[in-house]
Amino acid sequence: MLDALVAGAAARGGPLPAGGPGPVAVRLRAAVTPVLPDTGTGAAEALTTLVQAVAHGAADPAEPFCAAHLHCPPLAVAVAADLAATVLNPSMDSWDQAPAASALEAEATAALAAVVYPDLPAPDALVTSGGTESNQLALLLARERARAAGGPGVQVVCGANAHHSVHRATWLLGLPEPVTVPTPDGTMDPGRLDAALAGLHGPVLVTATAGTTDSGAIDPLPDIARVTTAHGADLHVDAAYGGPLLFSRHRHALLDGLQSAASVSLDLHKLGWQPIAAGLLAVPDSTALRPLGHHTDYLNATDDTEAGLPDLLGRSLHTSRRPDILKIVVTLRALGRDGLGALVDNVCDQARRFADLIEGHPRFTLYGRPVISTVLFRPEPATDDQVAAIRRALITSGSAVLGRARAGGRLWLKATLLNPDTPTDRLASLLDVVTAAIPEGTTPR
Ligand SMILES: *Cc1c(COP(=O)(O)O)cnc(C)c1O
Repeated sequence: MLDALVAGAAARGGPLPAGGPGPVAVRLRAAVTPVLPDTGTGAAEALTTLVQAVAHGAADPAEPFCAAHLHCPPLAVAVAADLAATVLNPSMDSWDQAPAASALEAEATAALAAVVYPDLPAPDALVTSGGTESNQLALLLARERARAAGGPGVQVVCGANAHHSVHRATWLLGLPEPVTVPTPDGTMDPGRLDAALAGLHGPVLVTATAGTTDSGAIDPLPDIARVTTAHGADLHVDAAYGGPLLFSRHRHALLDGLQSAASVSLDLHKLGWQPIAAGLLAVPDSTALRPLGHHTDYLNATDDTEAGLPDLLGRSLHTSRRPDILKIVVTLRALGRDGLGALVDNVCDQARRFADLIEGHPRFTLYGRPVISTVLFRPEPATDDQVAAIRRALITSGSAVLGRARAGGRLWLKATLLNPDTPTDRLASLLDVVTAAIPEGTTPR
């Protein structure tokens, strides 16, 4: 399998397979046909053929020029731990399927929740599949709090910069559409939030973002918390991207105000270098999770629970569930807070250096100084269509994978830097590759 990974990467020869979707689909079809042969080919052949084909056609986040999304290269130590989790295959829905893994999860979630809520006596956290599920659970818990108080539901208020999953969660949970506060500067303005809340009656959940997907911006959490409290509303903070700034001695203050939140989403498969999935939803106290309690005789019979078997079903909406906590705890122990914080600082510093290079470059304009590790830039002069075409040309040639984001009414190229090993000269080369993709006829300023 390792040989097949190496051979596939060599055949690819860059961050993304060249040629766009057509050639990838053709090669993949050749490798996988027939999907269900009458007689099997054996483990060695199947692993070699399919792992090599998928590696050949992969977007490899370990490549420095693969920087479109919050898509990180996983740490080897986390990958190794995840393999052990796969071999042991504990399922986190009952104690008799996961005795040690469930005890590990209980210890580790309490410790991680204490990173989010250091001043509280007994904060708790659920392990989730990522920010999408964490946000869904946060809205579900808010809905159930409102129902317990006798109301029909909860009104969500979020910034226009909020992650799409907040909107989807209101749809899924049968809640009214979120009231959206405009964010022309990229972050939620407390004054505008105050005005939005003034017109609302009944239970409200304000959702703020710490690390927007488009630009890595962080809403002003202390002021938002103050306004939210003044209106008797609850606060959820989506820190799926920015949450691990808490590990950095230099940058944890960027998240001041987080402790006021009724819930916090945090992903470790972004700034945390875990293989997907590694999400968390932290809450100030375990009692906040009571609405998720659920009984079914074959998993947590009352007499079993009364006899002392831990009841795990209320810690997720999933039933069968992988022990994603193992890779997380192995990583935390192997690197320590300092090691993890250094990786976070490293990619944030890279983003600053990349921004410096752009500011000093005759052909590019920088959107703004990076807050975390996302850098928005565009060639000038260029139309939005040309910017979009440059991005597509780069991914079609397989030379670089950049994202796109609309900000300040214009389209920007987005570099989300998540590889701590990228040297600065590779960042300069990335700009050269983008320069080469600028179409003829757009002249330097
Ligand atoms: C990535 C992200 C999400 C979604 O998280 P998944 O892990 O992809 O489900 C939600 N909110 C923000 C701010 C994110 O960056």
